[in-house]
Amino acid sequence: TTYIAKEARYDTMKYRRCDRSGIQLPLLSLGLWHNFGHADDLTKARRILRTAFDLGICHFDLANNYGPPYGAAEENFGRIFKKDFTSYRNELLISSKAGWDMWPGPYGNHGSRKYLIASCDQSLKRMGLDYVDIFYHHRPDPETPLEETMGALDQLVRQGKALYVGISQYNAKDTARAAGILRALGTPFLIHQPRYNMLDRWVEDDGLLDTLEASGVGAIVFSPLAQGILTDKYLGGIPEDSRAKKDGRYLQTGQLTDELLAKVSELNAIAGNRGQSLAQMAIAWLLKDQRVSSVLVGVSKPEQLHDNAEALKKLDFTTEELAAIEAVLQD
Ligand code: NDP
Repeated sequence: TTYIAKEARYDTMKYRRCDRSGIQLPLLSLGLWHNFGHADDLTKARRILRTAFDLGICHFDLANNYGPPYGAAEENFGRIFKKDFTSYRNELLISSKAGWDMWPGPYGNHGSRKYLIASCDQSLKRMGLDYVDIFYHHRPDPETPLEETMGALDQLVRQGKALYVGISQYNAKDTARAAGILRALGTPFLIHQPRYNMLDRWVEDDGLLDTLEASGVGAIVFSPLAQGILTDKYLGGIPEDSRAKKDGRYLQTGQLTDELLAKVSELNAIAGNRGQSLAQMAIAWLLKDQRVSSVLVGVSKPEQLHDNAEALKKLDFTTEELAAIEAVLQD
């Protein structure tokens, strides 16, 4: 059936400026790391994308190697985009990345100009797009001069293949260096993509958020639910259709220790007292920091998106609530 986006799609979503830039991001963005591979149910994948857009989630995040197999998420996104979203292209912010293992040999990984330019071309072909809105270097590569990697991002912008650039997983020190190089080149350095959630707070300890603020660069944070751990889904055992059970590549059942689940259960109780699900509280907890421009969730079902979007109804915390959360996390 032909997809016609909901007219009210921008009415309830909130948008936050991506630091000192012209771009506003939806407080929730959707990532296609999981659930868009060739073995996944594409009818469901299509419903997830439609649901997202109808909720005002106008930013979709991809990478060259999302699948499996590598490239599959971009191919499947391209197919769905062509059918459902072609006429909405200008309402969408679409990103891709290169930096991890992608094809064999010395030119299919890391941070060379050779790899980044070729990979961006491949991504555009797979998705059927003329340009991406953001192109990222996916992870730092200490072996390649940062000038070369940033120079490749700059070239992609000059070629019209990307409108903005970003980096992911870089620490504060390398981020400051990258920002200096990109500023000198005149490249629009929009955004950084770090992992950040209640169980992984390296961005606070490392000073990354401070560095980003000083550089005028926004932050979109990935794995905000720690891949599903920060929800109530694992509290009563491991569901058959959960990432831990189905996938096991990045989230293993062994990570779900009794000690961790006891913490999650305490957090779940705090969320309940706020009248929220734990997933909703975990999202709100990240958004309390204005330097977080968007929270990048993954979902295996459209219903999870609705659930997560409800977080926006209660973003504020009392000092008591924050202290109670802190006590659980520090324990
Ligand atoms: P999350 O922490 O949001 O985990 C997503 C998983 O949590 C879902 O697949 C689902 O798992 C579960 N979930 C989501 N919402 C709910 C809910 N309301 N109730 C119960 N369970 C829920 O994020 P991801 O780890 O998936 O990462 C998100 C995105 O971040 C990726 O798609 C990617 O775009 C980006 N990313 C970037 C990286 C980088 O290096 N730059 C690395 C990793 C991710 P289930 O399948 O069990 O239902």
